[in-house]
Amino acid sequence: MTDNWGDVLMDYDEVMDRFDPVIGLEVHVELNTASKMWCACSTEFGAPPNSQTCPVCLGLPGSLPVVNGLAVESAIRIGLALNCQVAEWCRFARKNYFYPDMPKDYQVSQYDEPICFDGHVDIEVEGEVFRVEIERVHMEEDAGKLLHVGGSTGRIHGADYSLLDYNRAGVPLMEVVTKPIRGTGAKAPQVGRAYMQFLRDTVRALGVSHARMEQGNLRCDANISLMPKGTDELGTRTETKNVNSLKSVEGALRFEMCRQGEILASGGRIKQETRMWHETGGYTTPGRSKEQAEDYRYFPEPDLVPIAPSREWVEELRATLPEPPAQRLKRLQTAWGFSDRELGDVRAIGALDLVDATVAAGCAPAAARKWWTGELSRRANEASVELEDVGVSPIQVASLQQLVDRGIVNDKLARQVIDGVIAGEGTPDEVVASRRLAVVSDDTALLLAIDAAIEADPGAAAKVRDGKVAAAGALIGAVMRQMKGTADAAKVRQLLLERLA
Ligand SMILES: [Zn+2]
Repeated sequence: MTDNWGDVLMDYDEVMDRFDPVIGLEVHVELNTASKMWCACSTEFGAPPNSQTCPVCLGLPGSLPVVNGLAVESAIRIGLALNCQVAEWCRFARKNYFYPDMPKDYQVSQYDEPICFDGHVDIEVEGEVFRVEIERVHMEEDAGKLLHVGGSTGRIHGADYSLLDYNRAGVPLMEVVTKPIRGTGAKAPQVGRAYMQFLRDTVRALGVSHARMEQGNLRCDANISLMPKGTDELGTRTETKNVNSLKSVEGALRFEMCRQGEILASGGRIKQETRMWHETGGYTTPGRSKEQAEDYRYFPEPDLVPIAPSREWVEELRATLPEPPAQRLKRLQTAWGFSDRELGDVRAIGALDLVDATVAAGCAPAAARKWWTGELSRRANEASVELEDVGVSPIQVASLQQLVDRGIVNDKLARQVIDGVIAGEGTPDEVVASRRLAVVSDDTALLLAIDAAIEADPGAAAKVRDGKVAAAGALIGAVMRQMKGTADAAKVRQLLLERLA
């Protein structure tokens, strides 16, 4: 089997017969602080290019950075949630390299003194628990963005010129790095994915990041190497960059296992390199070669004071940690009475918080799940927006369900109510009133419509009178059309059959 790039892939089962995978994940978490890491510039997404810059984040000579206290707090809280130690004293370091999106020609990061280190989390995949050890959580700054104009690929080669936007330069980033994860066997890709999901849920629960993978708030580099079975020698690893969805983490690891397995089995050697993941084709291609260790000439950042979090502060922050995600899931599943599959569906589309808020607003859990995983999820897909941006709030979903429960609207009308809410026509109650969507259960109005339908189609009426109940369908349809969908079909059927009995 070959892919678009021409790599020959080993069958996954054969990879598992011959090798043990070792994976590692480096995840960049963009924080949601209002201002940047070293200056007061806004971090708001989507502003006009270079409108959120100042001498500090443009790296102008003589400007002096000041550390963002909330970013340090967020870093410590992330570390604590991952069971890390918090450094008593640590410094920032300059990582020197040239790239146009780095205005200073160095990135301020942390090197051998990360703020948090030596943590662990337990990740569950299909009932099996895997311990993932956390090497470090460190603080750094994001780079700007380059836009290459004129080429066909959007890449620098073939472009006429490049534009630079420094709005993102200096936005706080946390890097969370695992130690090599061994012993996951055939579940390695799933463990990678589940760990990523855990991290996303955790930073969301901590409230420190928007955690939207598709917007690059969480960016994963996935490392993997294969060890021949029976040896204890680590193989050469590749690092697949910017794997930006949960599905891609699993896909990229799996692909690399099959690609590396084939190369090793046919006597080749793995090149140490970064690779790019192609979401559409589901394969990786070579990026930068990493065979020579890069020399970033790290040295302590002289313009920033060291960070020395007091133990009292660390304990205060520990007390602000939310319920651990696994514990919260168990509690919600019990409270809601969802099966594993139902809960899985909710989590897969990132609707856990939405369902939780909808239930808190008074909606039955099953109904809340149905709305979010069904109709609203479909609409979010159609509009290519995140579920939480679909235009209907959890409170509105709860009041819509109340209208259904009270028999004021049926499912079909409820969808029209959603149309109205999304169109900005107000709350579900207001939409029902302004669009006159309430189900008509008043018998008089229904009987008038039924009589009109019988008069218009005497043939069908005669058949029903002769006992051919199937012929009632045409008459019910006529009544429903006349009532413009606001009638309860079961009620119409009952009244019609009584009328013709
Ligand atoms: Zn600035």
